[in-house]
Amino acid sequence: MAAVRDSREMAAENPAVELAKSHLVQPWPYAGSIGAEARTLVTSGDGVYLIDGDGKKLIDGPAGMWCINVGHRREELARVMYEQAMELSYNTPWYTMNAPSAELSRRIAEYAPGDLNHVFYTTGGSSAVETALRFMQFYNNVRGRPEKKQILSRGGAYHGSTYLSASLNGRPRDRDWMDAADDLVVKLSSPDPFRRPKGMSAEAFCDFLVDEFRDTVKAVGAQNIGCFVGEPIQASGGVIIAPAGYLKRIRDICRENDILYVSDEVVTGFGRLGHVFASEELFDIEPDMITFAKGVTSGYFPLGGVVISERLLKDLNRSNHPDAMFGHGLTYTSHPVGCAVALKNLDLLEGGILDHARAVAPYFQQRLKTLEDLPLVGEVRGAGLMACVECVADRESKDPLQLDKDVGKRIDQHCHELGLLVRPLINMCVMSPPLVITKDQIDHLVAILREGISRTMDDLR
Ligand code: PLP
Repeated sequence: MAAVRDSREMAAENPAVELAKSHLVQPWPYAGSIGAEARTLVTSGDGVYLIDGDGKKLIDGPAGMWCINVGHRREELARVMYEQAMELSYNTPWYTMNAPSAELSRRIAEYAPGDLNHVFYTTGGSSAVETALRFMQFYNNVRGRPEKKQILSRGGAYHGSTYLSASLNGRPRDRDWMDAADDLVVKLSSPDPFRRPKGMSAEAFCDFLVDEFRDTVKAVGAQNIGCFVGEPIQASGGVIIAPAGYLKRIRDICRENDILYVSDEVVTGFGRLGHVFASEELFDIEPDMITFAKGVTSGYFPLGGVVISERLLKDLNRSNHPDAMFGHGLTYTSHPVGCAVALKNLDLLEGGILDHARAVAPYFQQRLKTLEDLPLVGEVRGAGLMACVECVADRESKDPLQLDKDVGKRIDQHCHELGLLVRPLINMCVMSPPLVITKDQIDHLVAILREGISRTMDDLR
């Protein structure tokens, strides 16, 4: 109690920042500063902008965590949240249901490929991936294949922060210092063409990845593998776009071997690539499950989910264990307020924002690509409204390791001063602005980023 009173007194002078240092645990903290960190205070948002505690306007380059798709301060979303909460703020999902969750499922099913027409709602992306994995285990247990449980994942992947989803993560920082469920996960190479072996063509790299996948299935045994989980484009890994045709070939191998394909569209879904789902529209794959979150409510309400193939549900309906229960549920599954927000968000996307995202994306990519003339920049890559600027020590060797390891952070700090938030990832900066960004705002974003990188080059001289 005493500590609380002390910090309240302190807060009277400098409220949020000091309170955070005293009482808040931030995500991705270092041991040395855990529980004592304060990050940039933002107090409001508007369109593609955030306003910080000093009243400074910042372009929200990463759209939060890839999620503010329709932009900040959307009155339509705020209003529907209020109206739904006044009508029905919650219902207990195991003996009652609500209309927004049923209607949202219908609309999601319309966009999802093939027979993916049932949705289980979660509170975000990690719980969506966790649900898909537990569903795979349940499916195989009920079908009398208890050994068919191994999960295939790849270097560069990010699938969440809950136990099993985090065990799939490919980057060391997302799984070091935890005791991952390594006995359940088989790791494959990152499909990153920028870091493919020197002298190997993109086509040969694709063959290499596909061969590795096929060989792994053979070595582990298809009878032991439950599913593959993959992002259509690896987002947090640095916007890694696998070689053309790769995902389809992986999908075919999964199908031949009765391995479920889980497409993690937590980032790519709901407009980031110009479509509600990218799996089929852009990559010609029909997964068995799609996980989504983030853009489904544009970050206005914590909601995620898994779209599940009807075939899998029918298999369970017909199984020899009709009484087996999928003992999985969340207090906030099918949340009426979240689903109402998602419905309105979908209206906004359909009402012009998806078209706008598709129209402006080539300009966004082309303008960012101009940064490749800066010696520190090894590659700018991206698709739709997601992109990554990868810095290298030397363009020939592409070596990121000799670089000051805080290069991303330095760029972020310079850009922040200049009015742009970027998401630093060691030697990379990721950009995924709200989908409503205009060409003028893109020009501004790129100009600041250029200056931020130039200042970083001066620092490193
Ligand atoms: N899957 C992907 C592809 C993600 O990028 C993320 C988060 O960034 C997640 C899952 C986890 O989502 P959440 O942070 O909502 O739990």
